[in-house]
Amino acid sequence: MLGLSGCTSSVEQSPEVLAKKELVVSYIDVGQGDSILVQGPSGKNMLIDAGIPEEGSKVVSYLKSRGVKKIDVLVATHPHSDHIGGMPDVIYAFPVNKVYMPKVGNNTYSYEKLLVAIKRKGLKVTTARAGVSLDLGSGVQVTILAPNSSHYDDLNEYSAVIKLRYGDTSFLFEGDAGAISEKEMLKLGYDLKADVLKVGHHGSAYSTSMAFLEAVSPRYAVISVGRYNDYGHPARVTLNRLRSQGVAIYRTDEKGTIIAFSDGKDISFTFEK
Ligand SMILES: [Zn+2]
Repeated sequence: MLGLSGCTSSVEQSPEVLAKKELVVSYIDVGQGDSILVQGPSGKNMLIDAGIPEEGSKVVSYLKSRGVKKIDVLVATHPHSDHIGGMPDVIYAFPVNKVYMPKVGNNTYSYEKLLVAIKRKGLKVTTARAGVSLDLGSGVQVTILAPNSSHYDDLNEYSAVIKLRYGDTSFLFEGDAGAISEKEMLKLGYDLKADVLKVGHHGSAYSTSMAFLEAVSPRYAVISVGRYNDYGHPARVTLNRLRSQGVAIYRTDEKGTIIAFSDGKDISFTFEK
């Protein structure tokens, strides 16, 4: 895991993003799993998770289709296969500047493969924990809000939770954080308000607690979830909580890849099957 990053920080800007001065957030349809590409208005790219191993090549081609030439910030929210499985493919395909992961391991083949990829590329891992800022270029503020503890019984609770602000618009990415992590964020009094919430843990019943949802008060909720998954995600109770707050729900199993555009004032969405 140790070693110096061999990457320079020269900024290659996608002409499309540059011309529009927009922030583009793609919730990539990777079936049951998470993978989110954030392209800042200055041309910097952040990838949060990369789906299961079988989705790695899809994530790589999607990034290429969005003009990505390098990844400035790579976040593995937590070491479960549906989040880190496809990450070795991404690491081998693009220059990567910084890698963030919570301080917890996992005794799985996916995790071992990720560590090998990180080592082979000479990358260094920075611990993802509350208070860490991520550099997505000027105009965009990105902060990690969780994890806030050093030990949890459930690996999901270690999830890096990320808040992004661009102008008057804001996004919250929960990874698979559950009610325990949500409670900690509430107790610490963080500004959780966000226009778009990437719902925790694929919409499971153990995340998106009512108090948390009220604090975030999103206009839109994105659920990254596989069709006919074995877990019953998203849970009816979670969908009902979101509906009771009048939140518009977009699901990757229904919409495919969900792309949000922000000009700093308004947010619009498109979908790609
Ligand atoms: Zn997951």
